[in-house]
Amino acid sequence: MHKIVTLLLLFITLSGFSQTTKPKFEGQATSTTSEKVDTRNHAIMPQWRGQQTLGNITFDNDFAGARLNGITQNNDTLYTAIIAAENYPINPSPWYAFKVTSQRPKQIWVHLTYLNAKHRYFPKISRDGKTWQVVDSTDCRLIKGPENKNQSFQENALSESAYVRINVDTKTTWIAAQELMTSPIVNEWSKDILKNKFVSSTIIGKSPQNRPFECLRIGEDKSDSKIMLVIGRLHPPEVTGQFALQAFVEALCVDSETAKQFRKAYTVYVVPMMNPDGVDNGHWRHNTGGIDLNRDWADFNQPETQIVRNFLHQKIDGTQRKLYFGIDFHSTWDDIFYTNITEKPSHMDGLIKRWFDSLEQSIPTYKVNARASKPASAAISKAFFNKEFNAEALVYEVGDNTSRDFTKLKSKTAAENLMRLSLEYLK
Ligand SMILES: [Zn+2]
Repeated sequence: MHKIVTLLLLFITLSGFSQTTKPKFEGQATSTTSEKVDTRNHAIMPQWRGQQTLGNITFDNDFAGARLNGITQNNDTLYTAIIAAENYPINPSPWYAFKVTSQRPKQIWVHLTYLNAKHRYFPKISRDGKTWQVVDSTDCRLIKGPENKNQSFQENALSESAYVRINVDTKTTWIAAQELMTSPIVNEWSKDILKNKFVSSTIIGKSPQNRPFECLRIGEDKSDSKIMLVIGRLHPPEVTGQFALQAFVEALCVDSETAKQFRKAYTVYVVPMMNPDGVDNGHWRHNTGGIDLNRDWADFNQPETQIVRNFLHQKIDGTQRKLYFGIDFHSTWDDIFYTNITEKPSHMDGLIKRWFDSLEQSIPTYKVNARASKPASAAISKAFFNKEFNAEALVYEVGDNTSRDFTKLKSKTAAENLMRLSLEYLK
């Protein structure tokens, strides 16, 4: 009898273990913090930009999105890259991006080291700056500290540093933390979206470094009576969130009956690039004011958040217009939605809950991972949209390593279902 129980326990333990090798992501603790942080300017350290040649190898950080704070040569085939943040303290999202060329074909290793951070993003490689691949696992060696050796998930599992092997020649090779999605690249995407006759665009402000804040308008209702808002890229390294935003917006622009009806009833405003200065300066998280813009939706000390707040107030105040829905695209350790525990009904009560259910029905292999917090608890975008405008609002987070194809599929499906459900609210 005792033996059977032991075997049974062993079986339960083993089967439980196999199911929990990748634990469910519970969300970032900081997103529910009740502490308000000071969002007045905090000095940043600009990065020196240019080319540096060591031996026959030239490293270059003089382009939009670049981040390489220093490079040294250890020996004929080994170089050490020093990567630092714009300022500290800062979240552990150590962005890097640089170009490398060699006067003659050669294989080198670059040791990626970080100032006050660990290695997070598995390197991506490109030969044209546009198409990217994940570096082959045999070409990247992760150096884990003793306390992280047996961890396999999220922040605890990060390596101290990483070595990446690159075949260099006279043609440029790009190495970056994620695919480069700078403000010029996103502007090109906007131009494509603008080819649709029901899309227009306005510049609703300028960033501190004078980059335009483009706002796309999708819809055919001239009165703008029912407004939705899509924003993204508050945090520069969150490229997978940008992919999701773009797939979402593209799906709002298709030729289906649902999309056409939706665009007659609702107007969607899209600000695809909320932190263009941070993105183009290769920042880890902040704007040029040195502030996390997703902690500034209560005090509005930063120009970037002020632009969107003013835009919404100018559009809505003193009119019959309403903000129905606000969505903010980000990236984190895994796919998750952060929602509001609403204290008063929104203009589309229950929409998000129904939307999640519909996503699971449309993608049977997918389970929604969502976490709700009180809108009063933090100065983040979803709280502002809900408290100020009674909108259904959420943060749409995509995992750093979530398959790019699945990211697009889920986001496209999310947009289709949102359009369908929104039309039901008109009945
Ligand atoms: Zn973020």
